[in-house]
Amino acid sequence: MSRTDADVAIQGAGMVGLLLAAALAHRGLRVLLLDKEGLPQWQAQRYGQRVCAINLASERLLRGLEIWEALQRVSPFRAIRVWDALGGGRVAFDAADLGEPHLGHIIENDLIRSALYQSVRATKRVQIRIPACVQRLEPDDEAVTLRLSDGTRVTVALVVGADGARSAIRELLGIPVRLSRYAQKAIVAPIRTEIAHEEIARQWFLPGGPLAFLPLADGRCSIVWSLPTVEAEARLALDETAFCQALAHGSAGELGHVLEVGERGAFPLYRLHAARYCTERAVLVGDAAHVIHPLAGQGVNQGFQDVAVLAKVLIDAQRRGRDIGGRLALRRYERARRGDNLLMEWSMEGFHQLFTRRRPPLVRLRSLGLGMTHRSTSVKRFFMRRAIGADVSILP
Ligand SMILES: Cc1cc2nc3c(=O)[nH]c(=O)nc-3n(C[C@H](O)[C@H](O)[C@H](O)COP(=O)(O)OP(=O)(O)OC[C@H]3O[C@@H](n4cnc5c(N)ncnc54)[C@H](O)[C@@H]3O)c2cc1C
Repeated sequence: MSRTDADVAIQGAGMVGLLLAAALAHRGLRVLLLDKEGLPQWQAQRYGQRVCAINLASERLLRGLEIWEALQRVSPFRAIRVWDALGGGRVAFDAADLGEPHLGHIIENDLIRSALYQSVRATKRVQIRIPACVQRLEPDDEAVTLRLSDGTRVTVALVVGADGARSAIRELLGIPVRLSRYAQKAIVAPIRTEIAHEEIARQWFLPGGPLAFLPLADGRCSIVWSLPTVEAEARLALDETAFCQALAHGSAGELGHVLEVGERGAFPLYRLHAARYCTERAVLVGDAAHVIHPLAGQGVNQGFQDVAVLAKVLIDAQRRGRDIGGRLALRRYERARRGDNLLMEWSMEGFHQLFTRRRPPLVRLRSLGLGMTHRSTSVKRFFMRRAIGADVSILP
């Protein structure tokens, strides 16, 4: 008889933890899902403040688990335009160059979580305990016993830390992180512009940091504006008219005047990478393992690829009658994902460094680079394939 109460315990019902719960349950594993707080309610009548650019690889994953259909409001973008405000260079990426109808979709975080939560709730294989979290871990040769905040104990083969950048599981496991703060904040808000966005995502590299206008299905845009912390605070304190003027100025009037701005939020920016993704009967996924600058909108897409690989590794191990919490399976996952996540982290760091420098030779160099990229379809295809996740593997 099985000694365990579930095969896998996942701490964190964010987008990544929920996707992992859905993927494992879909393939017959028994899952215990924990979160310290309840899920926010998605509301059809208003746009959520936080959105994500979801790439084609993530779309394929969500479709494979029949979750895509439950996303009631997705906003496709078929092109990306990028400007270097200081150097004057620009580059345009078009889905048509890849033979795709679009390059991705802008989707509200709460909607993704809500669709995943409904899917997870519909299966009998996921036990949900909210609010609850792991307070102590006791691994042995066969399983790991978790002492939970509600006073109960459960035994599972594997515990997954999907509990975000400040992961308590990572802390309990004693896994160190490499952390760099950008001394920047990202302001997010929905806005209405004078000129239609035409399903094009736009980004301006301004001297203080990138400003993105992401197209929404109702004709508005969602902005992500990264700025040095003091400047971000000053912009947040502006009244609506002054803030709209600052946005129109930053976007060089590309979409005309900014007519209206909704509720503004701000997030401190940093990058983080865990020294290891796994230890005895425990593994990290998503922001618990790696956090990057949001300038290319890749964070959750990377987390979803962690899920795709981890789910594949665990399902394979179970099919072969192997221990799903064993080092062999977990190291396979770590080897497959760490290099890719590090490459993405350093690419984002490279872009950040390149575009925040003001020295004239560097400004000229990047302007030249943008111009060359703009003129070369094959270079553009390379970047686009990387951004949409065209080459990544999906669930078996
Ligand atoms: C401004 C901004 C814009 C972004 N835009 C994009 C984008 O366009 N595209 C993209 O791919 N990515 C984007 N990202 C990154 C993306 O938001 C994150 O990568 C993603 O939210 C991480 O999801 P997660 O599930 O790993 O972690 P989280 O979203 O942090 O979820 C963690 C969950 O764990 C729970 N939890 C935390 N601690 C505990 C505990 N001790 N016990 C129990 N539960 C716990 C939390 O309640 C939460 O539910 C952006 C990030 C920012 C800041």
